[in-house]
Amino acid sequence: MRCEEARPFLLRGPHADAEAHLLTCDACFNWLETHDPMVSVLQATRPAASPVPAAVTAGVLQRWQPQRVSLRLGIAAAMGLSALGLALAALILANAPALITSILAGAGNVAGTAAGVVIGLLAVPRALLFDEPAVLALYVAVTVAVCALWARLYQQVQIPRRLTR
Ligand SMILES: [Zn+2]
Repeated sequence: MRCEEARPFLLRGPHADAEAHLLTCDACFNWLETHDPMVSVLQATRPAASPVPAAVTAGVLQRWQPQRVSLRLGIAAAMGLSALGLALAALILANAPALITSILAGAGNVAGTAAGVVIGLLAVPRALLFDEPAVLALYVAVTVAVCALWARLYQQVQIPRRLTR
């Protein structure tokens, strides 16, 4: 479909072929934006710009009072909550010592499992690098060569650098 054929259909309403042409034609898209009657209707309904009343800023700042918590109150609350936690822990320890030991044993099991996983994951690069000195030396040499190449490229490229005074 050519532009001249598509544009009347685009103005009339939904039309599959005209819309397919519109998807690929920027000229028709721009033409439709300037000739679509809905655009002028929307522009006409836009409310006029009105300035912000001068009293708004002063009113907001007058009513806005930041809530501040005093440092002494915060410290006292933290100390009170800590004392409450210690008292609860002492109460539980006095009444049910087996519960505390089971919780600590569970935490120890989790830590042991996590350490096993980390050691297992680190075993692969350790076996690849530290058990093969030639591979490690090659890796270091390649790293040094790449860094030297980057430094050489940085010196050659005329990048505007920050002036140091
Ligand atoms: Zn077109």
